[in-house]
Amino acid sequence: MSNEKIRVRIAPSPSGNLHVGTARTALFNYLFAKKMGGEYVLRIEDTDLDRSSEAFKQNIFDSLKALGLNWDEGPDVGGEYGPYKQSERFDIYPKFAQMLIDKGYAYECFCSNEDLDKEHEIAEANKVPYKYSRKCLNLTEEERAKLKAQGIKPSIRFKVDYKELVFNDLVKGELKFDTSLIGDFAIMKSNGTPTYNFAVVIDDMLMKISHVIRGEDHISNTPKQILIYEALGAKVPEFGHLGMILAPDRSKLSKRHGATAVSDFIKQGYLTEALLNFVALLGWAPSDAQEIKNVDEIAADFRIHEVSSSNSIFEYEKLNWMNGQYIKKMDISKLTDLALPFLSKYDTSKYSREKLEKIIEVTREPITLLADLENDTQYFFENPIYDEVKEILEGEVARAVLPKFLEELKTWDFDNHEEIHDKLGDIRTFFKENNGYKPKETMWAIRSALTGRTRGADMVATIQILGKDEIIKRLENLI
Ligand code: GLU
Repeated sequence: MSNEKIRVRIAPSPSGNLHVGTARTALFNYLFAKKMGGEYVLRIEDTDLDRSSEAFKQNIFDSLKALGLNWDEGPDVGGEYGPYKQSERFDIYPKFAQMLIDKGYAYECFCSNEDLDKEHEIAEANKVPYKYSRKCLNLTEEERAKLKAQGIKPSIRFKVDYKELVFNDLVKGELKFDTSLIGDFAIMKSNGTPTYNFAVVIDDMLMKISHVIRGEDHISNTPKQILIYEALGAKVPEFGHLGMILAPDRSKLSKRHGATAVSDFIKQGYLTEALLNFVALLGWAPSDAQEIKNVDEIAADFRIHEVSSSNSIFEYEKLNWMNGQYIKKMDISKLTDLALPFLSKYDTSKYSREKLEKIIEVTREPITLLADLENDTQYFFENPIYDEVKEILEGEVARAVLPKFLEELKTWDFDNHEEIHDKLGDIRTFFKENNGYKPKETMWAIRSALTGRTRGADMVATIQILGKDEIIKRLENLI
């Protein structure tokens, strides 16, 4: 590898919220830059002004930041090679288009949309792939002047000559293209704005991008882009095309399969650390079998040429599992901050911060999404819902156990975990010896009375969090 600086970029179009696929591309660029000591640039590709919006741009910023994929240069932080928003670079592209015209690599095209539609129809009728007819290639200067005088604004086309184009893709290996199949393509539209293929080359060239790592859906654009670099006499960057991300049914991942936008995953209660770890595994595999890794560990182990060239399946089930793993391990204070928005339907102010952290601590074990906490913590904030435990509460065991439990607990020290634990044990033993109740049955009765459930958080902790007054109230209501 040459000793030129490694510079990569993520270049989303703000025509939608940040897609997980784009997040994966961003991550792989970020990892590559981190590993190689390079720079990672964010460029907003908003040349299509009709489809781009400020809200989508903000969503892209927020989502990338939430994932921790912060950029070294970009529209908001600036940098040596700005502006980093294509709509602010519109004065740059025409100069380069003119340069290509002057060198004979490009020409003005006056064909109307109707003309071109006709060409497309003919190709379709003849069942041949469409290629521009080159009708405008050999217009004389006078002819062009005449058309312009009529008010017709030309587009600019790149003249594609036949050659076999070979490049070595970092992910896919050697790729060959027959450029005779491409046809002369537009680089500037008649409204004076650049096409994607042209803007991307000019920007990557001026921003000194050394490696273009992006989705395989762009692979058919790469030969066009290489031709433009060559015509400009510019250094061609290295390319790496990542396999696509497919849904479990192997179709294109879409909303009908589940969330696809990073912000929607976050809204559903996925942790950004888990989501990032999960998308890293869509194409990359750790050198040890340990899949749960933070971004620094992944960066240390990341090698772009080892990235899989085939498509990856987005297994929501696996993401859920991984999210659960992260929820179990996360620092409790941080997890509580993230959990609180999911408990907005409750009056959380009735508990101290310390108790709120305890509530999250004792309920986090079985959950996969932060959103699950709303249901799983219900009985801490409201009266329990007894529908599912009616039978237990009306049964013989509960009728015997609950009054005794109520009498006893009045003397317990609620700050003493050990004591509560032991006293609960005493109650179980008492009813086993005197009434023949299984310890499990005794506990079910108590748990059902306090929580409306037969399973859930640690009983001693639950008792401590609810507190003596609340428990007495619940038991008196029931009895
Ligand atoms: N703006 C393009 C997209 O969102 C990026 C293409 C590229 O990375 O070259 O797909």
